[in-house]
Amino acid sequence: MPVSGLPPYDPANIFARILRGEIPCRKVHEDAFALAFHDIAPQAPIHVLVIPKGPYCSFADFSAQASAEEIAGFFRAVGQVARDLGLEAPGYRMLANMGAHGGQEVPHFHVHLFGGQALGPMLAV
Ligand code: 5GP
Repeated sequence: MPVSGLPPYDPANIFARILRGEIPCRKVHEDAFALAFHDIAPQAPIHVLVIPKGPYCSFADFSAQASAEEIAGFFRAVGQVARDLGLEAPGYRMLANMGAHGGQEVPHFHVHLFGGQALGPMLAV
C-alpha cells in the first residue's frame, strides 16, 4: 500500500528488474533485506546504491510501510557495505533522493553511498 498521495509501486522500474535478475548489475552485497551494486553513472570514485528487497517507492514509503525487521536489516546492510568498501575510516556520504524536489529518478527506494575522495559541500546550488 503506497503512502497516501504518492503513486503506487511500479514493478517495471529498473531496480525491480535488477532485483529480479532481468538486468545485470555489478553486485557488491546481497542479503535477505538488501542488494548493493555500483551505480551505472558514478559521481564519485566509489558510488554504490543500496536498495531494499521489498517493493518500496521511496524513503517516505519505506519508513512508513516497511516492518521493523526490514528497516533494521536494510540499514545494517548499508553500514556493512560502507565497511566492506573501506569507507569508514576516510569517511563517506550517504544520500537518499525523495520525490521531485529531491531529484529521485528511480521509483524504488535506494541509498547512495559516495566515497573515495573528499566530497565537498553537501549541496551544489
Ligand atoms: P536517483 O536520482 O533516483 O536518486 O538515483 C538513481 C541512480 O540510479 C542514478 O545515480 C543512476 O545513475 C542510477 N541508475 C539508473 N539506471 C541504472 C541501472 O540500470 N543500473 C545501475 N547500476 N544504476 C542505474
